[in-house]
Parts: sequence; C-alpha cells; structure tokens
Amino acid sequence: MLNELIDAIHAYLPDEDCTLIEKAYRFSSLAHTNQKRASGDTFFTHCLSVAEILAGIKIDTATIAAALLHDVLEDTAITPAQLTDEFGTEITTLVQGVTKISSYHFVDQEMAQAENWRKMLLAVTRDIRIILIKLADRLNNMRTISFLPPDKQKRIALESMNLYAPFAQRLGMYRWKSELEDLSFNVLQPDEYRCLHDAWEQREESHEHHLKDWIKLLEDVLSPYEIPFRLSARPKSLYGIYKKMERQHKAFPEIQDLIGLRLITDTVANCYALLGLVHTHWSPVENTFTDYISVPKINMYQSLHTSITGPGKVLAEIQIRTEEMHKRCEYGIAAHWRYKNHGAKIVSGVTTAEEIDQKLDWLRQVLEWQDELKDPQEFLSAIKTECTFEQVFVFTPQGKVIKLPEGATPVDFAYAVHSDIGDHCFGAKVGDKLVPLDYHFHSGEICEILTRKNVHPTKHWLEFAITAQARSRIRRFLRENEAKG
Ligand code: MN
Repeated sequence: MLNELIDAIHAYLPDEDCTLIEKAYRFSSLAHTNQKRASGDTFFTHCLSVAEILAGIKIDTATIAAALLHDVLEDTAITPAQLTDEFGTEITTLVQGVTKISSYHFVDQEMAQAENWRKMLLAVTRDIRIILIKLADRLNNMRTISFLPPDKQKRIALESMNLYAPFAQRLGMYRWKSELEDLSFNVLQPDEYRCLHDAWEQREESHEHHLKDWIKLLEDVLSPYEIPFRLSARPKSLYGIYKKMERQHKAFPEIQDLIGLRLITDTVANCYALLGLVHTHWSPVENTFTDYISVPKINMYQSLHTSITGPGKVLAEIQIRTEEMHKRCEYGIAAHWRYKNHGAKIVSGVTTAEEIDQKLDWLRQVLEWQDELKDPQEFLSAIKTECTFEQVFVFTPQGKVIKLPEGATPVDFAYAVHSDIGDHCFGAKVGDKLVPLDYHFHSGEICEILTRKNVHPTKHWLEFAITAQARSRIRRFLRENEAKG
C-alpha cells in the first residue's frame, strides 16, 4: 500500500525523494495501532486514504506526509513536540492546523454564517494546504459515513453540504465539491436521493447508448479538420440534477440534457474553431451558449458551453476548453501550487511578472478576500499559501461567528453581538478564563460577554474599543448622559 502511494506521487513528481512519506507512513501506522474505524477497518486505512486523495490532486509531499499524520495529535498520545522532532515544523504546523479545525463544530445553516466560517477557518489556519487536507479528510469520512449512527451522519453531512462543498468550489475543486454534495444529499434527503438514483439507473442503459452515439458522431465530424482534440464524458452529479429539477420546476423525465461531453483541445483559437464546427453541424439550443473563455467565472473557470440537439432529439451539453483550463478545473487551487515546486515556466511556457500577477489575481478572486489581504507584494511572497489577514473571527457561545478587525476587544465583540449587550458589559470569558475588557482576540476563540443592568459605557472604553460601531455607541451613551447629568 505504501508502494502504491509512492508510485502515485512519482507519477507527477518523478524525482521526488519519498523517504519522508515512508517515515510518516510507519510513524502513523504505529501510532494508530489497535485503533479501529466505525467500519471495523484499522484506523490507519483512513489516514492512507486521505493521503491518496491528496496525491490525486498532485500536491507536494509535505502535504501528503501531513495527511498520513493528520490524526496523530487528536487521536493518539503523540505530542506536537515529538512530531516536530521527527518531521520538522512545516509538517507539524499542517497537522496542528487540521487538528484545530476538527475541534470546531459548524452548527449554523445560514449561508452568510457559512461564509464567515470559511473565512474563519482560513484565518485560523493561514495555509490553504491545511484546508485541502481537511477537505480530503472530510471526503473520506463522507465515503464511509454509513457506519456512523444516524444523528452523527446528519450533522456531518450538513456541515459537508453547507461548509465544505462550497469551500471546495471556491478553491476550484469541482470533483471534490460534487462528490461531497452527492454523498451529503444521500444522507440529508434519502428519499429524494433514492428516487433520483433509481430513475437514473433505469435510464442508464439508454444513456450509455446515446453517449456512445454522440461520441461517434462528434469524432466523425471533427476528425477530418486536423484540430487536435479528445472527448470525455462528464461525470454525472445527482445533486446537480436535483438542483436543476428544482430550478426549472421539472420532474426527472423532463430533464433532457443529461449527456455531458467535454471537448479538450490545445489552444483557445482551437476551442472557438471546434465550437464553430459543432454549430455548423448541429444547431444550438436557444440561450444555451455561454462563453466563459472570454468572460471567466469568478474562480477563473473557463470553457465554452453549448447545448445541441442530435438524432432522436437527444440533447448534448458540450463544454469546450484547453488542456490548461481543464487542469485548472480538475485540480483547482492545487494546480497553482506547482509554481512553487517547479517554477512557472513548465506550466505555461513564458512567465512574466504580469502573468504571475494574473494568477495571483485569480487566487485573490477565488478567495474573495482581496480587501483583507495586505499589499500585493506581500501576497506574492506568500504564494506558498500563507495568507495574512487583518481580521479575527470570534465565536459566540451559540456558535455564531463574529468577524472583527485585528486588535478587537470584548467591548467591540459585545457591540457586534447586540448594542444592549455592549451597553451593559462588565466582563468577558474566553474559553473558561476571565479576560479584561481590553483583551485582544485571536481567531477561533469563543467569547461569552458578562452583563449587568447597572453597568454602563465609560470614557475609558474609548481607549481600546476599535470598531466604528462600538465607538459610536459609546460616544452616544456618554453624550446623552452628559446632557442628562
Ligand atoms: Mn481524519
């Protein structure tokens, strides 16, 4: 099993020294000896699966070693100091990050809260590779979720659907996103899932048949033109179909365009050439053509989309893209890592500062946190993924995440929760400890504000409260009281 993992890594990093992987493999399997998963498998099979999932997106070996070790701090007696001694700080930091995320439990169903959660997780971890390990961990847990008790299944599936699947999408990890959605859909709406799954299976035979017909037709038509291309069928996503049915208010039999095909070629010019040929032979369905090459999606997704009608009125949804666009879709943010390891040259031929800026722009857009990042120069040096944030994310005891500027204090937090709480706060607890009102938060802390009816804002609070909201409320209170007094 170790050899399979190393072979998988050597397939994309041929010269990589995998001693570290071997060491992490032995260390982790020893540390988890005698531990079992709910499925009855040894616990270590889980660690190995997570490492394999990550090798699937061609990530660096430090991340894969950390994946093998990702549960040793949480589930065994191994200490961070021991881990640092054996594997150094980079891998230990990755493992500690994953362990920290595991200690949070996402409860909220509101989308705005989910967004705060995603930001919070990144702020806490400061390294996107930690999120990728966590996503792979979650993917493996979802694949084996049937062994858990139903209430636990529901909680984990809800978290996967509302928090991790959108996260995967933001990072451009489409395959992970779809799989997380389908697996969660099965747990959260078992009846709908079953229904759709059965309907799909009934159609599968004729579907395969239509698919073959379409592939043959397209090959026959396109081959004579000497434009390089390969065709691939798009994997189906049951949850995607379900969303489409909801969106279009249609039942499954009415959803026609399920044949998804991809045409992958070498250059942008050839994408348009292939599109022209496709449209010359089959007329496009009205309003289905979208050009995401000239107008990419916010996460830099690029492709031409069109739907055409073939023999027997069978619709095909076709995506046309270059190999590079395809790679970006398959590996998402991980596709950008390879800059770090191999230099940008290998990926795109020429590298100009402008091009790197473009890629970074992409990253910034994907993360949608441009305004929270420090200057671009700093971001450039942080291409190896450490992000710098100027915000902290603090939990209420109910699990709501409050976003605050760096240096924010319990008074700022209290006013962000509710002005009444701000007006009467006299103390704060972070975790189990009492902290002063001028305490500075760290992301991920849980804060409980203590209030008393007869406590009111004082001038002193203005010396440390930093949010505009808190400061204006404090001033207003002081002004009104002076007027009265
Ligand atoms: Mn795990």
